[in-house]
Amino acid sequence: MISIILVDDHVIMRDGLRNLLKEESDFEVVGEADNGRQAVKIILEKKPNIIIMDIAMQEMNGIEATRQIKKEAPNINIIALSMHSERQIVVGIFRAGASGYLLKDSTSTELVEAIRTVHSGRKYISQKISDIVLQEISNTKKDSEEIGIEVLTNRESEILQLISEGNSTKRIAEVLFISPKTVESHRANIMEKLNIHNLPELTKYAIRVGLTSLDD
Ligand SMILES: [Mg+2]
Repeated sequence: MISIILVDDHVIMRDGLRNLLKEESDFEVVGEADNGRQAVKIILEKKPNIIIMDIAMQEMNGIEATRQIKKEAPNINIIALSMHSERQIVVGIFRAGASGYLLKDSTSTELVEAIRTVHSGRKYISQKISDIVLQEISNTKKDSEEIGIEVLTNRESEILQLISEGNSTKRIAEVLFISPKTVESHRANIMEKLNIHNLPELTKYAIRVGLTSLDD
């Protein structure tokens, strides 16, 4: 049996995936989550083989969730399933530890193939995505003008997402179980590290690097 957890903020998407995966007698969907934070919570009790991970989700996106899950449970294989094909996002989730990447317009055959490939310990990248990754590798003059998200700690990038989604300091403190003062000091550090000193620019940055997305 291959046990699978579905993470997506849209119920209809999860329903569709669950129905589709039912066709394979050795696949079993053992849980669902509607954002990254919830996903991190349930993987520890369910310990699935595979996670199908959406990227654009409120509160905690799929990239940050992947990073945290791989840290806690490195044996779980994660396949990103997203409508985004921007370089920053694709590269971001692979850096976070994903083993596969599928676009939401993929066929069901591709999804099944991706699950079997990743479960056997290999990587799965669809053609369109591999073109983007290859382009990234051959791109010698990287966007040096842009400071990469890697300069932030995991906690800082979590907070940056919450800030750019318009959450108040009080709300962020509640979500992360930390004091508002701590949130403020993280925000100051983030701005310092990124050399960005106002909220609109910070939000634009979060969108550019794929932490936050305008649509989903
Ligand atoms: Mg989404």
